[in-house]
Amino acid sequence: MADIELRIAALYPEQLNIYADRGNIAVLERRCQWRSIDVTVTPIGIAEPLDPDQFDLIYLGGGQDEDQRRCAADLIETKREGLVAAAARRAVVLGICGGYQLLGHSYELDDDTIEGVGLLDVKTVRRDEPRLIGNLAIRPELPSAPTAAVLAGFENHGGRTQLAADAKPLGRVINGHGNDGKSGQEGCRSGTVIGTYLHGPLLPANSWFADWLISAALQGSPELQTLDDTLELAAHRSACRASGFTGR
Ligand code: GLN
Repeated sequence: MADIELRIAALYPEQLNIYADRGNIAVLERRCQWRSIDVTVTPIGIAEPLDPDQFDLIYLGGGQDEDQRRCAADLIETKREGLVAAAARRAVVLGICGGYQLLGHSYELDDDTIEGVGLLDVKTVRRDEPRLIGNLAIRPELPSAPTAAVLAGFENHGGRTQLAADAKPLGRVINGHGNDGKSGQEGCRSGTVIGTYLHGPLLPANSWFADWLISAALQGSPELQTLDDTLELAAHRSACRASGFTGR
């Protein structure tokens, strides 16, 4: 499709790629290519700056606490301003698990507090409690999501995330733990900035959400052509079944 391009920045692909989270990028890339939309994926690592005008979608995967710690310091130092400016021009910013935690204000663990970029009004704390692990299905609360849409995947986090009183979750837990195992909330969304605990990776099993993100990143134009999603829908049903969700 002439002149239409989705420009993706993949932050810290070496460090933040737990559970093959980079598979999310592969899905975004393929779904654009199948529609003849050009895609560029730019890996941006430690010490490299982020130019806010160069990207439509900025991605942060999940990671172990130690990798997160290293990336967090760099995120604040070399990328926070760029991220905030990109979000202000409505670029999509998607953080998965550890990446989600870093989009919030802070991640407190042991005797240390990791500062986040503060794009989401959330705080995460890890205490001496069991990790929240298992299959997870949520009912997203998103503008223009398909009717009765579900997101399904896998979660494994020690941190418990609390939303500020007027922050909006990405969705409500159907089965699984979500943000903290008790609020019934999962993830957080503020405009085009989204954080979620869903790994899997998320997008191969939830292709409708990949399209939602592509549309948001391209600001609604062009209207996305329907694809043959036979395999993707089978993957979605399987992820839903794994989380114990079989209804509508
Ligand atoms: N290290 C973080 C936690 O355990 C994030 C883990 C992850 O990205 N899966 O809470």
